[in-house]
Amino acid sequence: MPAPAATYAAEAAAKALADHEILDQFYGHLPPVARRTPMRELVSTVLSHRTTHADEELAYDRMLEAFGDWPGVLGAPVDELIHAIRTTRWPATQAPRIQEILRRIQAETGGKFDLDFLADWPTDRAMAWLTDMPGIGLKTASLVLLFNYHHPVLPVDAHVHRVAQRVGFLGPKVSVEKAHSVLLALLGPRLDAEGLFNFHKHNYWHGQQICFFLKPNCPRCPLKGFCNYYQEHYGDVTPDALAATPTAWDAAAWGKLPH
Ligand code: SF4
Repeated sequence: MPAPAATYAAEAAAKALADHEILDQFYGHLPPVARRTPMRELVSTVLSHRTTHADEELAYDRMLEAFGDWPGVLGAPVDELIHAIRTTRWPATQAPRIQEILRRIQAETGGKFDLDFLADWPTDRAMAWLTDMPGIGLKTASLVLLFNYHHPVLPVDAHVHRVAQRVGFLGPKVSVEKAHSVLLALLGPRLDAEGLFNFHKHNYWHGQQICFFLKPNCPRCPLKGFCNYYQEHYGDVTPDALAATPTAWDAAAWGKLPH
């Protein structure tokens, strides 16, 4: 008879895979295409901490308008860089961090502002190098490594974390940071980088568009058949509830999904 911990892990893995397969159909399978260049992904994610997407983009654009390029940003007086990125939440913290990140990239490459060497490094080494930099946590490092270099890692943000906990394949006390290794242990043996990319994007959208923080839109949700939260709040799913559940995201009725 398997030990209880092994049974729990197998059940969690089965739920995580079911979540992946259903959302893959619901939102549509995506090719693993990077949304922006590696340098932009890295620096923008630093700027995005507790900042709206619009303010992050504004800060990024103003920074490059003011200083021209990465050597210009690195050599800028720090108070001018703080001013350029002032739409972010903590510009006085982020400005010296960005310059330190650029300094380390320059030192690693012998002068270039380019992260492509990470493509050839083993995943663990690339992750350790990125997360050693100031302001770069597991989520930022995972986004760069998965989106830009197709390393098999899994970024976990607040949306992915919430959906995983409500459905029930992540324990209620597991932090967002810890969830990176817990979910990767569940899914890494079963999904390649493309699968992990889709899992991240779909669960991110799901948290943003359906499984809201305050009032999740459970009637619209295709995960209700095995979701712990649904069962706790609505009881066992009925055939009528399942029959009324949409099978795909309706962009015409509900809006276009974000990038
Ligand atoms: S059924 Fe409700 S709580 Fe569960 S994943 Fe869907 S929207 Fe979230």
